[in-house]
Amino acid sequence: MRTTMTTTGLVLRATKTGEADRALLLLTPDGLVSAMAKGALRMRSKLFSGTGLFCYSEFVLFEGKTMHVVDAASVKQVFWGLHEDVERMALAMYYAELAATLSPTGAEADAQLRLLLNCLYFLSEGKRPPRVLKAVYELRAMTLAGFMPDLVACADCVKYEGGAFCFDALRGRLYCADCAAKRELACNLDAASLAAMRYVVFSEDGKLFSFSASEQTALRLGAVAERWTLVCLNRPLRSLEFLHTLWAPGVEDAESAQGAPLSPGDFERTQET
Ligand SMILES: [Zn+2]
Repeated sequence: MRTTMTTTGLVLRATKTGEADRALLLLTPDGLVSAMAKGALRMRSKLFSGTGLFCYSEFVLFEGKTMHVVDAASVKQVFWGLHEDVERMALAMYYAELAATLSPTGAEADAQLRLLLNCLYFLSEGKRPPRVLKAVYELRAMTLAGFMPDLVACADCVKYEGGAFCFDALRGRLYCADCAAKRELACNLDAASLAAMRYVVFSEDGKLFSFSASEQTALRLGAVAERWTLVCLNRPLRSLEFLHTLWAPGVEDAESAQGAPLSPGDFERTQET
């Protein structure tokens, strides 16, 4: 008798193979699972809707020798808004590549799945700017994976706030403007973007999305969060390169902003209704 397992899972990858099959990569509460949905692309296949890209479904899987085979897939949530906008879809693809690269297991997998579902919900509904959602996902996903940036205070003099700071991604440390200058590092965070970064890294799960950031703050936060992610992963991500082709002007702004005078904070908390 074949062994079956039932699990919820988010479809991170759905690749057409053969005549009408879908090869799936799922993020489940226990980790990544590869599964084949045979005939899923055929007309009236009962597997069609539940095995689409970014579907969150309940799966019944047969355990195969090399890969699981999908026996049933019932949809729990579809993020329709992702399919309406190329920028949203590109960011979702980046989320998926990042989640697959981190390949979480055990309790971390469950936490990574919940984070990703929440980010996809806000992205799909257009409830937060994509640049902010990108930085939130990067910083939280890295923190869950064991790469929490040290943002408590300046690593050299313990200064906590006031003026510009530098987050040195290569060392994962924060330096105040004076200490950064001694190390010949340029400041890349103003008060608002440092507050936003601390909020994203340290806030409780339920309050993670309860903040807003100006465009300039989002750009600074985004540049630092991305650099930290790439340093931690130590490898390029194809989906990020594509996202940059959509965001090229803003990314240049963010880079030039690092050397520009830093303005007072505009970081504020809001309540989600
Ligand atoms: Zn210092």
